[in-house]
Amino acid sequence: MAAKVQRTLDTDVLILGSGGAGLFAALHAHQAASRAASPLSITVAVKGLLGKCGCTRMVQGGYNVALAKEDSVERHFMDTIEGGKWLPDQELAWKLVTLAVERIHELENELGCFFDRNPDGTVHQKAFAGQTFDRTVHKGDLTGIEIINRLAEQVWARSIQRLEEHRAVELIKNASGDAIAGVLLIDMRTGEYVFVRARAVLLATGGGPTMYKYHTPSGDKSCDGLAMALRAGLPLRDMEMVQFHPTGLLAGAHTRMTGTVLEEGLRGSGGFLLNGKNERFMAAYDPRGERATRDIVSRAMFSEMRKGNTTPHGGLYISMAHLGPERVRREFKGMVERCADCGFDLAGGLVEVVPTAHYMMGGVEFGADCATELPGLFVAGEDSGGVHGANRLGGNGVANSTVFGAVAGDSIAAWLPGREHRDPDPAALEAALEACERPFRKPAGGGGSLEPVREKLYDTMWERVGIIRDASGLRAAQGELAALDAELDAHAMPDSSRAFNLTWHDWMNLKSLVGVSRAITAAALAREESRGAHFRSDFPQTGSLESSAFTSVRASPAGLELVMKPVAFTRVRPGETLLEDAA
Ligand SMILES: Cc1cc2nc3c(=O)[nH]c(=O)nc-3n(C[C@H](O)[C@H](O)[C@H](O)COP(=O)(O)OP(=O)(O)OC[C@H]3O[C@@H](n4cnc5c(N)ncnc54)[C@H](O)[C@@H]3O)c2cc1C
Repeated sequence: MAAKVQRTLDTDVLILGSGGAGLFAALHAHQAASRAASPLSITVAVKGLLGKCGCTRMVQGGYNVALAKEDSVERHFMDTIEGGKWLPDQELAWKLVTLAVERIHELENELGCFFDRNPDGTVHQKAFAGQTFDRTVHKGDLTGIEIINRLAEQVWARSIQRLEEHRAVELIKNASGDAIAGVLLIDMRTGEYVFVRARAVLLATGGGPTMYKYHTPSGDKSCDGLAMALRAGLPLRDMEMVQFHPTGLLAGAHTRMTGTVLEEGLRGSGGFLLNGKNERFMAAYDPRGERATRDIVSRAMFSEMRKGNTTPHGGLYISMAHLGPERVRREFKGMVERCADCGFDLAGGLVEVVPTAHYMMGGVEFGADCATELPGLFVAGEDSGGVHGANRLGGNGVANSTVFGAVAGDSIAAWLPGREHRDPDPAALEAALEACERPFRKPAGGGGSLEPVREKLYDTMWERVGIIRDASGLRAAQGELAALDAELDAHAMPDSSRAFNLTWHDWMNLKSLVGVSRAITAAALAREESRGAHFRSDFPQTGSLESSAFTSVRASPAGLELVMKPVAFTRVRPGETLLEDAA
């Protein structure tokens, strides 16, 4: 029997995801509508519980913003462009650094966040690696909880609808295919299919490179937004740029704590990285030592691990004791406790660490107003691409999601007048339902555990599409990923119940991850140079910065199509700077 939509809802604005991007968008769209005295119905649909899921809540280190008198937005901009190896879209990066100042004031003065302060009352800003100024605003080392709790309270206090534990599964266009009509979701609690018709949709599901063996993002993230955007025919840029955080906790295969991040500030404040023989090694790879950018430190660590200089669990150590255990306990309370939970003494001893997949610089191509190529569809946060280029500075992630979330809310409110609801293409809706139903249509014999698929995906992405890549490994990965996709398509659900069927959702997670992994692999194969987070051992040099181009991949009936598009140097060219004192 054909699957059917069991519930239909109409809303003006549908926001997918409740991280920094989704919640800021909801608040700003609501505020803009109130100002214009033309109320909007705004709905936030989220795979988890609003305020309790996603990665913004997990932000530890903090938020980059040029607040200090001696700092400037130009300096923040230059750090972002140079850190991103001249690949960022300069208009997006400029918007990031200038609007971060507004957003941090809004977070403090309107939303009620308390950030750490200096004795003179100014906001404390700490050092983060790869930056020329200490500009990271924070709340101890658990900044994201402060931000998300305050944002969630404000959303709860307003007439903003919530669809919690509702998973978006497909972006549905109108019959002519030239605009978005709404989104097909699954109510995870009941298993019902829900179609939400919306005049505008924001994609803010937060990317999340959870296809790698070691990864930091929250378990609800499986690149669903990017997979949906690909299926909708949208271009994704910079997909080869996957950031590995150097210091993932390594506590053994039995615990999900393995892979979770120990914050950047540990290295920023002077922490040492040691190999299995207790030797510091970073100086051999970069003169900045442990304070080099994440890509360099992760690559150095991976190389050291490949040489076999490893700890009992096969990683390396971070050591903080030389800074004084009391200071470490005071400044990194959350990290000390996290390590203690896994049997490590961060303040006075050694902690095992491994590079861990942390962030995707790549995402949906978008304009400075957060609009995508598909009318009515907007994007913000980690689902979007182009702000960070080849490398994201620590502290620019939450700035990105909050800045562009707010931009999206404002832009959507400004875009809506005169735009009506569109009806969904019935054939597209039916195809999306059938795609979800696929594992229930297979003969029961095709079932079994999905763990082997996940393990194979982890291995392929870690070994072949990870920190160090080459053409033969990437080509092998293409074959392996195609085989995994086919394996998933043949998989049968052992249980026919749709209500809270976590195996079914896991199957969908893996489908999204494999689809997006194929886009990462295609982009990595196309970039025949090494730059930022992307390192090709067969092309170790960085090409000409003047002719910088970004990868743009989109799905077509013939497969993935990849083109290189030139970067427009709209504000500054390689070799130049916006800093007067350095010019
Ligand atoms: C451990 C950790 C520490 C970090 N520390 C820092 C830091 O110190 N500084 C910094 O700048 N950045 C940091 N980051 C990065 C930062 O968290 C992200 O850049 C940013 O907050 C992402 O915001 P977002 O709104 O795009 O996504 P998220 O906050 O991840 O939100 C995504 C939302 O989408 C929902 N969702 C996912 N799939 C679906 C679906 N199919 N349907 C409906 N909803 C869906 C999720 O449930 C979630 O609510 C850190 C990340 C991690 C993982």
